[in-house]
Amino acid sequence: MAKTPPAPAKTYRPATQLVRGGTMRSEYGETSEALFLTSGFVYDSAEQAAATFRNEVEHYQYSRFGNPTVSMLEQRLAALEGAEACRVTATGMAAVHAAMLSHLKAGDRVVAARALFGSCHWIVSTLLPRYGIEAEFVDGENLDAWEAAFRKPCQLVLLETPSNPMLDLVDLRAVCDLAHAAGAIVVVDNVFATPLLQRPMHFGADVVVYSATKHFDGQGRVLGGAVLGSQKWVDEILQPFIRNTGPALSPFNAWTILKGLETLHLRVPAMCRAAATVADFLAERTEVAQVRYPFRLDHPQHALAKRQMAAGGTLVTFDLKGGQDAAFRTLNALSLIDISNNLGDAKSLVTHPATTTHMRLGEEERARLGISGGSVRLSVGLEDVSDIIEDLAAALDAAEPASVRRRAKPAAPAPEPASTTPKARTTRRTEADLFAEASREMFPETHPAEE
Ligand SMILES: *Cc1c(COP(=O)(O)O)cnc(C)c1O
Repeated sequence: MAKTPPAPAKTYRPATQLVRGGTMRSEYGETSEALFLTSGFVYDSAEQAAATFRNEVEHYQYSRFGNPTVSMLEQRLAALEGAEACRVTATGMAAVHAAMLSHLKAGDRVVAARALFGSCHWIVSTLLPRYGIEAEFVDGENLDAWEAAFRKPCQLVLLETPSNPMLDLVDLRAVCDLAHAAGAIVVVDNVFATPLLQRPMHFGADVVVYSATKHFDGQGRVLGGAVLGSQKWVDEILQPFIRNTGPALSPFNAWTILKGLETLHLRVPAMCRAAATVADFLAERTEVAQVRYPFRLDHPQHALAKRQMAAGGTLVTFDLKGGQDAAFRTLNALSLIDISNNLGDAKSLVTHPATTTHMRLGEEERARLGISGGSVRLSVGLEDVSDIIEDLAAALDAAEPASVRRRAKPAAPAPEPASTTPKARTTRRTEADLFAEASREMFPETHPAEE
């Protein structure tokens, strides 16, 4: 049995949980969480070892089952999510896999939203059927389709909202109600929203899974995953599976993620604000056919987004009129934003889903999900949003095909972006100018607005 940190006497707010939740201090009274980089633990006596294995005393045994640094991360995430229990894993996919396979057996049936992270899609479509588990995909936003799918017995539902990469939403309350009536548990992959924007359990979800690789670490360093659920489900269903199959998170990675969490409540809202601004900027560009961002009025599920999310998230997806050629030219012309398939990072990262993360789905399935050659996914980071927008503006300009570029520019200037959108600047300014401007934006209270 693993020792667990004592529950705090008071319920703290999310920011406090992120800095303090789960902290256990050793006899040395260290300020920062200690890194217990150890595979095993020793016993005072043979009797204590025996009693530990009989679950009669709490003592760490082996880091595959439990480790103090890993426990601190589990307690912090459970406190943040408002979940009874948490187990962390080596990757987000290990978390999804453990949550599903621990619960399912041959003869069971899974219903999943079609718009899933690529590897989650593979588990449902390819792995589960090998073990005699039937799987059916539905369009996540179509409640009639969910209802129809629940006419046959179902044990587990897997869904992601907002989805990757098209940022489609699933009505959590409605689907959880339908699933529960059918006797299924609902597993929500909450990576895109993070626990700061959306609490699936408030809408009835039974299990929430995360890739800690994304916003939790948020600085591109380590992989990790987390599964959260009721104490009973975690103890009886998940923990035996994890203990015996071994997707354990390294204590070093747990420690890195603990440190990442301490700034989650500063990073995610800043990234969301920047993403909303970038979405508004992109919507004004003539090269862009459509921008997808859950909190924009033109998102088809805008009202649902406002009901179940606190902000629109850190990702923006947009479709370029010029298709894949325009997308590649734009990506290649960026100088600040990196081309990468990761997301939730301090660095802004851009992805072409059709040829990378969603390449294996095939043309037909991509078309069903609305992913075209012109679709571009942007994970907005922590750089100054004006620099992000200037980089996008310059890349979109440069990506115009030569035939268009050679044509004379129209006499009238292009329409100004919405007033909230920082204008892409092309005039060269000094480092001192940029610092003064950024400082006014970061500390508005000490820089009264100038006339
Ligand atoms: C990244 C990701 C995963 C998988 O996480 P890893 O840590 O890469 O294994 C699962 N779901 C979503 C939505 C993701 O973005």
